[in-house]
Amino acid sequence: MGDEPVMATNDDASECKRGAVQLGYWNDKYIQYFVKHVEKRAPEINRGYYARVKSIETFVQKFISRAGSSSQILNLGSGFDTLYWKLKDEGTQIANFVEIDFPSVTAKKCYLIKKNKPLLDRIYDQDGEVKLSATDLHAGNYHCIGADIRNINQLEIKLHQAEVDFNRPTLFIAECVLVYIENECVNKLLSWISSKFKTGLFINYEMCNINDTFGDVMLGNLKARGCNMSGIAYCKNLESQKLRFLNNGWQGAKAWDMVQIYYSIPDNERLRIERLEFLDEKELLIQLFQHYCICLGWLNPEFADFTCSND
Ligand code: SAM
Repeated sequence: MGDEPVMATNDDASECKRGAVQLGYWNDKYIQYFVKHVEKRAPEINRGYYARVKSIETFVQKFISRAGSSSQILNLGSGFDTLYWKLKDEGTQIANFVEIDFPSVTAKKCYLIKKNKPLLDRIYDQDGEVKLSATDLHAGNYHCIGADIRNINQLEIKLHQAEVDFNRPTLFIAECVLVYIENECVNKLLSWISSKFKTGLFINYEMCNINDTFGDVMLGNLKARGCNMSGIAYCKNLESQKLRFLNNGWQGAKAWDMVQIYYSIPDNERLRIERLEFLDEKELLIQLFQHYCICLGWLNPEFADFTCSND
């Protein structure tokens, strides 16, 4: 069946994000340009997406505050993510922001950026010149490139084209991506990063604690849609998530399940979103949160003290 079912997971994620934004879970005035279709999802799904987006953004902010404006972000398997535009609106300064996904996904993203002035204007802000091919877009400090992240040679060539500087502090984001990639390919990718970059932090969001009935159902759903779920070996528990980094040349790693992450969101903010929709079965939400996690891996001690709290 190939990679199509994995690429299609981006449509699902983007639709869920747009639906949650529409209900007021968080602000994102750009997601509407990438997704037209919105289907009503269960409240626990919306809360799950809220916790996922909010926590990644919190770690991104922590990274930028620590690493400064000379840092760069590489979003691996970025899909239709809108983080670049949100950071731009907040006035956050960084040297380079690079999005990488399969060429068929980036081709759609490039097309939609070109077609929608509010997206393009934010990119033009930085630098008047935008270079576009069918699958890649290069502008000032924003690059969207089509590459299979399992193919390190191709990735390295593309990162050079995107003006990635291996000496800058670099944040890697993989939001629900590594689980779809064969373990040996993820190992190679993480080893390559740790040998190539000097200073960096990796934020990995994905499934964990999958060895139970709930995990079987989650995996069964994805398999039924054609995803081969070949990266599942490291999703056993939080320890295995950390080991993935430690075994591939990273200096340290920490991981939290989404229950811990959710309850570390400031009370007023959590209570605000809990009032948006009535949730019948809290147990289901907790079960869902127990099966997802955030793992941080770092290349140098500068990022070793990050916690999931909002301090
Ligand atoms: N990170 C985005 C988000 O959270 O909104 C998209 C998540 S979606 C579940 C997974 C994304 O990973 C898809 O866009 C898919 O195409 C991408 N992906 C999976 N394997 C990849 C690979 N080997 N190379 C590049 N992209 C990949």
